[in-house]
Amino acid sequence: VAKEAGRDRWRRYESSLHSAVVERHRLRADLDRAIADEAFLLHFQPIVTLTDRRTHGFEALVRWDHPTRGMVPPDDFISVAEESGLIVPLGAWVLTNAVRAAAQWRIAYPEYETYVSVNVSARQFRTPEFAQWVLDEIDRMGLPPGCLQLEMTESLLLHDDGEVAAALAALRRAGVRIAIDDFGTGFSSLSYLRRLPVDVLKLDKSFIDTIASSTEQHAVVDTIVQLARILNLEVVAEGIETEVERDLLVTMGSKHGQGYLFSRPLSYRDASQWLLEDASGLQRGGRTAA
Ligand code: C2E
Ligand code: MG
Ligand code: MG
Ligand code: MG
Repeated sequence: VAKEAGRDRWRRYESSLHSAVVERHRLRADLDRAIADEAFLLHFQPIVTLTDRRTHGFEALVRWDHPTRGMVPPDDFISVAEESGLIVPLGAWVLTNAVRAAAQWRIAYPEYETYVSVNVSARQFRTPEFAQWVLDEIDRMGLPPGCLQLEMTESLLLHDDGEVAAALAALRRAGVRIAIDDFGTGFSSLSYLRRLPVDVLKLDKSFIDTIASSTEQHAVVDTIVQLARILNLEVVAEGIETEVERDLLVTMGSKHGQGYLFSRPLSYRDASQWLLEDASGLQRGGRTAA
């Protein structure tokens, strides 16, 4: 009987493994077509100043408008896109459209200094002439380099790779902001921070989730924020969902953040409306600190 059950379990395992493979295959084929059809859209999540909630920038987040599955979140297809190499054309589409949105906002709200932050995969960053292509794109759209931020993970930045370092240096020299995304989830040896050519640390949501409940996690985040200040790095806390989390971060001296507490990622139209409301607050003499 035990043997029977084991065989049964194995069969079930095998068939679920099989369907996972089939599923990924189908996803890949669909993705291929979606790239040709440009079946994607960008949402923009406001990154705010924690004290007064004024807009600091927007993170561009891709969504796939799938004919039968509806809106597919990036966690369901970015890894497939990375494995297959489709991330290169997809990432190019994302950057071009994010830069266009930021350029349009600058025209609509010239008094408003804001930036757009774009996630860049390692594979994409390693394509030849990537840095020059980015600089050409912002030039073509008339966006000042300081209005673009690129988010990369620690694993890319930690690789001692001459080409990566040269591309980063070229982008930074031009004034593009470089952020480490999901900071704290990778190797995070704090000592390497000093020599990395970056401007911003994006503190991963998993840290923020526990700062209110764990004194250890609170201490870790506090230390990172202090270290960032010493190293002259900006900190953006990700995934802030409660006032308690916001208050703790403000007390630590962390200036910026994003999260559902302030806003979910917004469509281009809603993000424009968000900016309009923020800008009209400026004309009224500023929003009162919340
Ligand atoms: P990420 O870059 O760390 O982006 C933050 C993610 O956290 C977004 O998920 C955002 O919607 C979500 N988030 C923000 N605030 C909160 C909050 O308060 N609570 C919760 N529960 N979640 C929050 P999203 O849009 O599903 O994106 C997931 C990941 O997919 C991103 O994580 C990023 O790694 C990747 N991704 C998104 N767009 C792109 C892209 O254009 N290119 C690449 N290479 N990766 C992308
Ligand atoms: Mg990101
Ligand atoms: Mg992140
Ligand atoms: Mg993340």
